[in-house]
Amino acid sequence: MTLAEQTFYGVKHVVVDIEGTTSRSSFVFDVMFPYATERFADWLAEHGDEPATAAIVDQVGHEIGVVAPDRDTVVETLTEWVRADRKITPLKTLQGLIWEDAFSSGALVSDFYPDALVAMGAWHSQGVPISVYSSGSVLAQRNWYAHTPEGDRTVWITDYFDTANAGPKREESSYRAISAALGVAPEHLLFCSDVVTELDAASAAGWQVVRLRRAGEPHAEGDSAYPEVDEMTAIILA
Ligand SMILES: [Mg+2]
Repeated sequence: MTLAEQTFYGVKHVVVDIEGTTSRSSFVFDVMFPYATERFADWLAEHGDEPATAAIVDQVGHEIGVVAPDRDTVVETLTEWVRADRKITPLKTLQGLIWEDAFSSGALVSDFYPDALVAMGAWHSQGVPISVYSSGSVLAQRNWYAHTPEGDRTVWITDYFDTANAGPKREESSYRAISAALGVAPEHLLFCSDVVTELDAASAAGWQVVRLRRAGEPHAEGDSAYPEVDEMTAIILA
């Protein structure tokens, strides 16, 4: 599949999704989750006395009805939650701590499609501001851009939006909130995403939208009414 370039007019600010748009959706499941899971035991051994980690242990104990659970029990429980894809707070918090440490030490770098870095670098050089809107937390987004395969790219990013500060990605009101927060009228905003229902919501809020339809991504199937590209370098800001 090779899709043509798409030209957009009057864009004053680009807002990009992460998974499936700038980055492989599979990276979180194939790389980040296993990375954290392999380190649960070591992390608890090394940081068990610190308040943040002690609180995680307490929360795990609370969930399974065990007071002061031993380390093996905590590790087994957390690992089982990963297998079951449970989005449970102590698990998410611990993964966040392990990933933050790994990003800061350079043990882990985030994932970007090469064309995404090229395109965003070009927009930045053109003087077009870029913001991020992803279901990952603002902290995770900042780490993602601070530790790219090509180094710290946070200088490109004006603002970060997640479901906490903007709202759900498939609701029109979230895009109105982002437009207001950025102080940019909707018709001058371009949203890049792989998920058509997100583009529906942005479009309903009056934004320009472009669909990233990348080979191998889970949302690449099915047609839509929106302009679509298979690489971000095919997005031309006139
Ligand atoms: Mg996405």
